[in-house]
Amino acid sequence: MPNPHPIQRAIDDAFQAFGQLPGGANADYIPFLAQVPDKLSALAVVCTDGSRYWAGDVHYRFAIESISKICTLALALEDWGHDIVQEKIGADATGLPFNSIMALELHAGKPLSPLVNAGSAEERWQRILAIQQQLGTADIALSEELNASEQATNAHNRAIAWLLHAAGYMYCDPMEACDVYTRQCSTLLDTLALATIGATLASGGVHPVSGQRVLQAGNTPRILADMTMEGLYDSSGDWAYTVGLPAKSGVGGGMLAVVPGVMGIAAFAPPLDVFGNSVRGQKMVAAVADTLGYNLYRSPASAAP
Ligand code: GLN
Repeated sequence: MPNPHPIQRAIDDAFQAFGQLPGGANADYIPFLAQVPDKLSALAVVCTDGSRYWAGDVHYRFAIESISKICTLALALEDWGHDIVQEKIGADATGLPFNSIMALELHAGKPLSPLVNAGSAEERWQRILAIQQQLGTADIALSEELNASEQATNAHNRAIAWLLHAAGYMYCDPMEACDVYTRQCSTLLDTLALATIGATLASGGVHPVSGQRVLQAGNTPRILADMTMEGLYDSSGDWAYTVGLPAKSGVGGGMLAVVPGVMGIAAFAPPLDVFGNSVRGQKMVAAVADTLGYNLYRSPASAAP
């Protein structure tokens, strides 16, 4: 048998080592997520040249949740430009949980969630869904069941929307914004689609399979910088310290890291740590990056560790 490709070998090793690691628990504040089988595990790499490698339950479609924020941020950057996004949202780490009210209080109500555009809620939703599909794959789609589950239990997020409104950082009806945000979190995608989003970001906005430019090249470094600052919420610093790649998690169990110019590394496994990041997802992605020698802060000449 021919030797497997080094990327495939790195994936197989990481999957074998961490694919069934115990620990963590499914998100349960969204009822839909509590019932996702917690043994599911998948790991995938999509390179900027479109080549793909994977292991595990890679075709299982899971909830995108907060990973959607990088897609909506991309749309906001395309529509408004980076200066306005920085002024209205900011790009600093809060050091606090993803749904922290305290973070808003500490920053005079300045938001952490993506800018929403003018226009009707339906129009905004369709554009947000379209950018998820353009960055990833056409089969990313809303789950009515998941959306109903989230809309029925998002009182905390509705409170955040009203606080943003009160502080002057909401540019449309707050309940409409919360409705669209909840829908953007309620799409399903598989681990290959997630890695494809990573590859599009890795290539400066060019889709790895279609070759189409989805984003302006100047916007992707800003998305990756935001991912470094806040992608794993209050454990983003530990991730940067140990792995050194921009990354984004979602409470659906998805986990994505980007190696600029090279690849997206994606994983899925439902059990989360206390910060809301996939326990096995982080381990698997970190192991692939480490085996392949990718860490943005390592000088090319220095050998690991
Ligand atoms: N829809 C979820 C929420 O807003 C997403 C959170 C996440 O993935 N971190 O609570």
